[in-house]
Amino acid sequence: MQNKLVSIVIPAHNEEENIVVIATRIEQVLAGLSYDYEIIIVDDGCRDNTLSVVQQLAANDPRVFFIELSRNFGHQSALKAGLDHAHGDCVISLDADLQHPPELFAEMLNKWEEGYDVVYTRREEDPNLPLAKRKTSMYFYKLLNALSETEIEAGTADFRLMDAKVVEVFRNFKENDLFIRGMIKWLGFRQYAIDYMPNKRYAGASKYNLRKMQKLAVQGVTSLSVKPLHMAVYLGFFISCLSLLYVPYVFYAYFFAKHVNGWASLIVTVAFFGGLQLVILGIIGIYIGKMFMQGKNRPTYIVRSTNIK
Ligand code: UDP
Ligand code: MG
Repeated sequence: MQNKLVSIVIPAHNEEENIVVIATRIEQVLAGLSYDYEIIIVDDGCRDNTLSVVQQLAANDPRVFFIELSRNFGHQSALKAGLDHAHGDCVISLDADLQHPPELFAEMLNKWEEGYDVVYTRREEDPNLPLAKRKTSMYFYKLLNALSETEIEAGTADFRLMDAKVVEVFRNFKENDLFIRGMIKWLGFRQYAIDYMPNKRYAGASKYNLRKMQKLAVQGVTSLSVKPLHMAVYLGFFISCLSLLYVPYVFYAYFFAKHVNGWASLIVTVAFFGGLQLVILGIIGIYIGKMFMQGKNRPTYIVRSTNIK
């Protein structure tokens, strides 16, 4: 009987020092298992030698493939590119920096064989990570879950196994606003979680700075739900009710106060409502922006070159 094919998808942005190491680790792990495999590395607009390193690997190993994107499209789009090009009976996605240990493949594949369609991983709290990163990550998931209908567990990143049928469904999504972990969770199917301890990044620096994480947080919330719009309505309603309490005082001041006062309270309310309106307008604006981007229906990534047939 022919072995099943496992596709490994790795988005990479300036990871030249990690590529060979991760490819070797993956080969070691999969050598012990009876699967055929392909490694697809997506060059997401790298400005270092990542692409030539991958091409060299590919020249020596027919199981290694590259997809070069035309520019940096971001982690999620790069991952989508890899998923779109994978041929496997299942696809495992992981980061290039070895924070996601390939040694987990065996357990993931076991669960897949047991009949699970998605095997995702949950990162245990890593005491080596800077406190700021741990805290932002924690609040990210708290906020995400408070604001949207699809529950995402803390510590789930894009290190997961997906059955080919799940990948096929995902491929047919026409959304260009990608928050893949949320979308996969939303899909349903039979999902299984594995806990693991992440490793330290092997080489290079994290590409997610605070600004990018903040962007991902807003993206996460607004791509999963329209709850913020509802909350804006409730907030507006609540504040209107609150401001009714002010009416008796206004009457009192009009009839009984002898001098012009209330300037302070006036300016405070003006500033408060000005700010509130801007926030709510902003929330509405984000969704309109999304409709605008989706309306243009542009591709989420553009392939410059690849050796995948
Ligand atoms: N990545 C990418 N495009 C980007 C940023 C990151 O393909 O614009 C890749 C990166 O090479 C890595 C993965 O996404 O394989 C996760 O990025 P990183 O390790 O920098 O994030 P962190 O683990 O610090 O959250
Ligand atoms: Mg990383």
